[in-house]
Amino acid sequence: MTQLKKRRDFIKLMALTGLGIYLPSCASGERKKQSSTKKNKPKDPVSEIEEAIKSNNVTYLKKLDEQFDELNQGFNLAVGKTPALIALCLNTEGIAEAIKFAHKENLKVAVKSGGHSFENFSSIDDGLQINLSLMDEVKWINQTTVNIQPSCTLREMYDALLPKNRIIPSGSCGGVGIGGITLGGGYGFFARKYGLTCDSLMEATFVDGLGEIHELKQEDELMWALKGGGNGNFGVVSSFTFKTQKAPSEFTRHRFKAYKLDHSRAKELLQAYFKYSKELPESCFAAFVLNYKTLVLLITNYGSNNDALDNMIDAFSELCDDASVGTPKNLAESLRTYYGIEYPIYFKNASAGYYEDYETIATSIDQVLDVVFKKRGLIYQINTLGGNINNPQFEQASCYPHRSSPYLSELQYYWDEKKDPSELLKSFDEIQNILYENGIRKQYRNYPNLGFKEWERAYYGEHYERLQSIKKTYDPSDLFAQKQTVGLK
Ligand SMILES: Cc1cc2nc3c(=O)[nH]c(=O)nc-3n(C[C@H](O)[C@H](O)[C@H](O)COP(=O)(O)OP(=O)(O)OC[C@H]3O[C@@H](n4cnc5c(N)ncnc54)[C@H](O)[C@@H]3O)c2cc1C
Repeated sequence: MTQLKKRRDFIKLMALTGLGIYLPSCASGERKKQSSTKKNKPKDPVSEIEEAIKSNNVTYLKKLDEQFDELNQGFNLAVGKTPALIALCLNTEGIAEAIKFAHKENLKVAVKSGGHSFENFSSIDDGLQINLSLMDEVKWINQTTVNIQPSCTLREMYDALLPKNRIIPSGSCGGVGIGGITLGGGYGFFARKYGLTCDSLMEATFVDGLGEIHELKQEDELMWALKGGGNGNFGVVSSFTFKTQKAPSEFTRHRFKAYKLDHSRAKELLQAYFKYSKELPESCFAAFVLNYKTLVLLITNYGSNNDALDNMIDAFSELCDDASVGTPKNLAESLRTYYGIEYPIYFKNASAGYYEDYETIATSIDQVLDVVFKKRGLIYQINTLGGNINNPQFEQASCYPHRSSPYLSELQYYWDEKKDPSELLKSFDEIQNILYENGIRKQYRNYPNLGFKEWERAYYGEHYERLQSIKKTYDPSDLFAQKQTVGLK
């Protein structure tokens, strides 16, 4: 995406000056000549579609166009999809035009902001991808309110906000798009104090499944749906207005490790994790990360020292083999250390249930550990939620349904191209089945898994039918339809 972004300003300038948007490969004459000489490329199945529409708002790219693959590529190399066309949009009007174009050409639609969907829901085989890669601007409305376009990454968001000593509570991975994370909820280091990313959303510009543009305010039913249920279900959000919070100046990280775990020690550590983390103040976040037989326990804090944190540090210093008790560091520098890899990789990640406390997994933990301890590379992680995420006002204003659960678990597995992941993926499914059979069925929409049974309830709880009614109003012809999108009744 770097090359693409380098060209962004040029492309925008072309459009704004009325010269039309022509990525070199879209210029029809030149393109045709090139395609006919590339004999080993597959025949373009959309040759029936008329020549790319000339518009200042959107450019259509076909499979043979030079930047098609780069634009389509999501973060997860393990899930490839190929749309018939990409609509590279410059603005809200471009999105509306693309949606009307999709109706005309009878194409189903997917939306791509940061492209970090675990299941690559931002692309769609043989359909139209509305690609928002060029819509990533951050504009301040006043000193505390900011407007952000959907493909702005979390790195870009923090880079824009932190110099002004402001934050929006969101995730930690630098490449994730503000579009997807907000519409599915969005949690991270700051959520226990300030709520989910979607809870900071004040206004949004939305293009529905008919291509109509809506300016949304807090009280709108659709706004309720977008806060936790907006990922590619009814239309496209082209702009988000967020309230921001004062950024803490410092951030501290503590890390503990325990090696060569067996069942009994792993369970003792896990029980201690639940016991101590539930007392932590809202400024703290904790993650219990079990990778094969090694535990890494992370605790972060941006508030003042407190007894609950000290107690947890003392307990894990005793229980673990290695303790690294941190000192306060500059916030921006600290956040940068969590940005992670930003180029596409092979992986399988998924939500592994919301938990209330240790009791939620007491009946399944032995079976889960049996699988994790057999497979090097399988990561079983439990993160803290709770705190202000469970604020009743946020609950009423959003369709994110799992606020009362103070923990979210996830499974992860990463591999390189040469490795066959099938055995590990079987273990992955085995754990999901164990959890499901033991009644752990609530899942985080932003950590999707095509394997989830009853995904409608898992992601949206009691709200699914209300979301279906909204779907009927804003996307009555089911334009946004792929696996696990909200369906018509
Ligand atoms: C490495 C990594 C780290 C992560 N860390 C966190 C974390 O700390 N906290 C957390 O909460 N989540 C985290 N996530 C999950 C992340 O929130 C989701 O993957 C999120 O949906 C990605 O958003 P995106 O815009 O990058 O992805 P995309 O793939 O572009 O979009 C994801 C989904 O949202 C839809 N969508 C995107 N933009 C729009 C739009 N403008 N209008 C309508 N629908 C849209 C897409 O169609 C797709 O269904 C992480 C994911 C990865 C891969």
